[in-house]
Amino acid sequence: MLGVEIEGAVDAGGRTIHFKADRADLDGTQLLLTDYKTGRTIDSGKRASTRARNFLKQVRTGKRLQASTYALAGLSSTMARTGRFLFLDPDTEDHARDFSVEDADSDFITAAGSAWSVVSEAWDAGVFLPRIVGPTGSKQGDACDRCRMRQSCRLGDSGYRRRVIEHVQRHTPVFKRTPTQLPAVRQSLLRLWWLGQEPPDYPEEQHDDE
Ligand code: SF4
Repeated sequence: MLGVEIEGAVDAGGRTIHFKADRADLDGTQLLLTDYKTGRTIDSGKRASTRARNFLKQVRTGKRLQASTYALAGLSSTMARTGRFLFLDPDTEDHARDFSVEDADSDFITAAGSAWSVVSEAWDAGVFLPRIVGPTGSKQGDACDRCRMRQSCRLGDSGYRRRVIEHVQRHTPVFKRTPTQLPAVRQSLLRLWWLGQEPPDYPEEQHDDE
């Protein structure tokens, strides 16, 4: 073992992403950076290919980025790197504990790089829309239950919630068809909103302001 609470940084999406790994191990020329998780595993399915597919799906939507980001850090190094989540809950079955990404896993590396690019672009555009609902507006945002900002968030404001959903639904058709017709900040917002997902076909409306 090399150490614990290791800090590092990686250039991704046009900015430097700083990270902390719970543990670092070195095996020959292979560096393994681990993030311990106490919550529910990513996927408890029996088939490794299904678990990997669902893991990748989450990375594409900007979730579970740590392991891929650790592996991304390896691209500028001669040392091969693996990033992994290790789920510690005793109720988790052994096959569903370890979710690893190697720097040669191009699907994960590409997905994480794209996610960081979209987030970085949104940051630069000043898009900090609270994700009070999931992309299709059907349920509360994934992160809200454990969010420390919850008390000061407009999460419970049904009018705001409705306006957010209406805004997304109203501009998504143009975003799908010809995104460059939208102002840059709105493109950025919708890229972030639909990160890793194909937007549904909402009916297109005519608006005077477009
Ligand atoms: S509760 Fe937190 S995670 Fe949820 S929308 Fe508000 S700020 Fe975002």
